[in-house]
Amino acid sequence: MAKILDGAAIAAEIKREVAADVKRLEAQGVRPGLAAVLVGHVPASQMYVNSKVETCGELGIYSDLIEPPGTVTTEEMTDLVAALNDRDDIDGILIQLPLPKQVDAKALLDAVLPAKDVDGFHPVNAGKLLAGRPALVPCTPAGVIQILKRSGIAIAGQHAVVVGRSDIVGKPVAMLLLHENATVTVCHSKTRDLGAVTREADILVAAIGRAGFITPEMVKPGATVIDVGINRITEQADFDRFFAGNLKREEAFARRGSTVVGDVHPKAFEVAGAYTPVPGGVGPLTIAMLMSNTVHAARMRRGL
Ligand code: NAP
Repeated sequence: MAKILDGAAIAAEIKREVAADVKRLEAQGVRPGLAAVLVGHVPASQMYVNSKVETCGELGIYSDLIEPPGTVTTEEMTDLVAALNDRDDIDGILIQLPLPKQVDAKALLDAVLPAKDVDGFHPVNAGKLLAGRPALVPCTPAGVIQILKRSGIAIAGQHAVVVGRSDIVGKPVAMLLLHENATVTVCHSKTRDLGAVTREADILVAAIGRAGFITPEMVKPGATVIDVGINRITEQADFDRFFAGNLKREEAFARRGSTVVGDVHPKAFEVAGAYTPVPGGVGPLTIAMLMSNTVHAARMRRGL
């Protein structure tokens, strides 16, 4: 039986550590603060931002939720970011993606002060990560490393295969695994015979954005499989393809009309030695690491 890597429990542990750290900072007269900028009314984004703000409250971190209208321009957003860069009560700036089409997202992310870039998306932080210097590291990739380490899974010397090369997940997770002395292969949509490469993986990270894409034949028996994907499915045919016979899921699907599946087919987990479930695997770590980054940014900015 493959071991389930319980992301929710690991995230809870990290949040407890962050809360203790916040208390220590408070004793030094510092209260870490996060500004969350949410544009428009994308339901998934609203849900993510709400839980980020709620978690701040739970851990004693100050938060400020700013909601510009969906018609906001790049210039207005840049002014807003500049004002947040200047505010002393704000240590971290989070701009929830996606942004409306008229806003130049890259220009905006570049406008965030690197010292307040708690998402780790600024080119300065990306460069520091590449160079192995202390940096604010993107939350989901940092969470993947925490899951592996806190579950006692060896990384050094292992062959890690990352499927996906996005700036926010694939590339940074590959870089972090390399810094942990894994031998790293990065795959993408142009990779030839993907299955032959993934079957070589001791640690397989799937960050593709395609429901159930990694099938059992693509996994080496006993490998550790980290499923970063979050894909909402609403079609009965898709449900049957992934979860036929899973009574608990069937009941939830009938009730809600949708469910989430990762980038790894549930049957592929049966081949693995250990894996992160979806939901409850990598997802909870993203918020925990955002909180950790905010406290880290508060310390760094004050030279503590
Ligand atoms: P993305 O920017 O769309 O990148 C997807 C990557 O997958 C690309 O590099 C793409 O290759 C590759 N890919 C697509 N089709 C492929 C194929 N047929 N064979 C091999 N590679 C293929 O997605 P992302 O932002 O990295 O997100 C990936 C997944 O993680 C999504 O499901 C997303 O929802 C999830 N996610 C979860 C969290 C969390 O908190 N757990 C956070 C962020 C993202 P090319 O570069 O060649 O196009």
